[in-house]
Amino acid sequence: MQKGKIGVTTENIFPIIKKFLYSDHEIFLRELISNAVDATQKLKALYAAGDVRGDLGDLTIRVNVDKKKKTIKVTDSGIGMTQEELDKYLNQIAFSSANEFLDKYKDQTNNLIGHFGLGFYSSFMVSDKVEVISKSWQEGAPAVKWTCDGSPEFTIEETEREARGTDVILHIDKDSKEFLEENRVEQLLKKYCKFLPIEIAFGKEQEWKDGKYIDTGKDKIINNTKPAWTVKPADLKDEDYQKFYRELYPMGDEPLFNIHLNVDYPFKLTGILYFPKIKNNIEIQKNKIQLYCNQVFVTDSVEGIVPEFLTLLHGVLDSPDIPLNVSRSYLQSDSNVKKISVHITKKVADRLNEIFKNNRGEFEKKWDNLKLFIEFGMITEEKFYEKASKFALLKNTDDKYFTFEEYEKLIRDNQTDKNKTLVYLYSTSKTDQYTYIDKAKKKGYDVLHLDGQLDVHLINHLETKFKESRFVRVDSDVIEKLIMKDEKRESKLSDEQKEDLKSVFNIKAKSKELYNVVFEALDENEAPIIITQSEFMRRMKDMSQLGGGMNFYGDLPDSYNLVVNPNHNLVVKISDDLRSAEGAKLDDNQKERKRLREEIDFMEKEHGKRKPEEVSQLEKDDLEKLRKELTDIESKRKEILEGYGNGNKLVKQLVDLALLANNMLRGEDLSTFVRRSVELL
Ligand code: ADP
Repeated sequence: MQKGKIGVTTENIFPIIKKFLYSDHEIFLRELISNAVDATQKLKALYAAGDVRGDLGDLTIRVNVDKKKKTIKVTDSGIGMTQEELDKYLNQIAFSSANEFLDKYKDQTNNLIGHFGLGFYSSFMVSDKVEVISKSWQEGAPAVKWTCDGSPEFTIEETEREARGTDVILHIDKDSKEFLEENRVEQLLKKYCKFLPIEIAFGKEQEWKDGKYIDTGKDKIINNTKPAWTVKPADLKDEDYQKFYRELYPMGDEPLFNIHLNVDYPFKLTGILYFPKIKNNIEIQKNKIQLYCNQVFVTDSVEGIVPEFLTLLHGVLDSPDIPLNVSRSYLQSDSNVKKISVHITKKVADRLNEIFKNNRGEFEKKWDNLKLFIEFGMITEEKFYEKASKFALLKNTDDKYFTFEEYEKLIRDNQTDKNKTLVYLYSTSKTDQYTYIDKAKKKGYDVLHLDGQLDVHLINHLETKFKESRFVRVDSDVIEKLIMKDEKRESKLSDEQKEDLKSVFNIKAKSKELYNVVFEALDENEAPIIITQSEFMRRMKDMSQLGGGMNFYGDLPDSYNLVVNPNHNLVVKISDDLRSAEGAKLDDNQKERKRLREEIDFMEKEHGKRKPEEVSQLEKDDLEKLRKELTDIESKRKEILEGYGNGNKLVKQLVDLALLANNMLRGEDLSTFVRRSVELL
């Protein structure tokens, strides 16, 4: 028997290993099984080279849990180890690399990905004793047993083992009892080993017999040794990709399409990415990609490895070239990771372009489900934007799809305003904004339909990309002003009449939303009143809702313009009616107003001729008094006008109709409107 002390530097590595990577204890099983897979593949390689002869026999790796003995055993039929190899690999190399690993990363316990590097020694995270029984493939080599109880001392002795291969037996410590539960072990195997290339047996298949499940004689194999991404694309059919998707996400929706990645140089990367249907809510879609290293599961959080928008995709990536035992911030600056990231972005864009080019109909059909992903990519990744701007689509309110270029051509002639700015009209709801869309169309304009989660962000982005262009929602102003042309229309009402009507129509100003009454000389066949909301305000509010850091706008109340058309007959009629009803009062008021204004003007001029200290207090008081009188007279006028407006059913009816057209008349206001309408009929 050989006795010895492991350890090159640290006297006692085990307590550190145990405490270390606390949350990642479970990886021990992945490490042991990876070693077993490696040993088996090495054997196959030797066999292929003719170094090993005869029948290789059953190469299945077996995992056994013995709850009574408190052990987990991993058995392989791989190359095994001779006594010298055991000593060399486990006592010297494995130990020193584990030691080195700990040394390097002990300061970053929290953000460290514990994956790989710790290898065999991670067994000591969960065991108080580990035994390795191994018999080398080499002829005549005796079986040997290595034992270590967690102190730096180990023993190696000869033992019995019938066949070639290795057993690693962990004596699970009392803090790690969870790993003696079959369910827990099965869960770990499914998580980490689902796609390993050598069959792994855990327990037996069961069958239903006499009212209960009983074990059959058949091994239960927990892995698929040939997952689709390891197969040549030419050997796979659509169904195979779909089947594999099911394997990854048993509950998922059918994906839209997939990309098979296969790179050899300058880095190794394989994988299959799927485009899921993304309707809305980006967050819940993220982080479904699984990252593998030579078919061993590593993580399902790939942020830092691929650009954020790609985390919306599903599927697997497998690369031995992604350094996994480092922190996330390091990953982002790693040059291989950067290259991989650029490559995937390019591949994804190319694949989309290919589908677009080869089958535009199909692409359009899937666009609504794809769009969130593509928009996210365009907004966040310049490189992706460059490619995607060739195939990204805009959908109009007639459900027709256009590329950016096609759409620009479509609207260029008709929708360029007098300042040479190209105006893209859009709507976020075909029902709510129906009236506005209808008006725009009657004018020969086209209206886009933008109702996606990222559309506000996208149009902000496109405005920085498209030359001399802006996006305005159809209801953000009257159509004449959305796209200002050179024509100017006369108003049937004078400025004074309009000024008075402003107060007459001011009846909604006290409600929660703020209305600002403005006049816009429109065609007499246009609506008498239109309600609009400024593009700027609305966009700022939308952005603040999406968390764009613009809370200032989010807290402001909604404000709207009540646009009155002074050329509409009914508006002219109200102005005339006002004259007949309140003409005398208004004239008196006007006379008084005029007199006061003249007096104030005169006094101000007089005072202005002198130095301020030469104006007596008495004179100042007089002027102040006049000013106050004027304010009173002006509010009096407002009172008369608002009083008139409030008592005028036609005014109320017109305002309510405008609100109704905008889907803004609700609750009590709506029922008042209905009652009034019946009365008027
Ligand atoms: P790594 O697997 O990263 O090389 P480990 O510490 O896990 O590091 O293992 C150290 C070495 O021990 C391996 O490289 C391998 O040569 C040997 N070894 C471990 N497990 C087995 C096994 N089941 N069969 C044969 N050799 C093994």
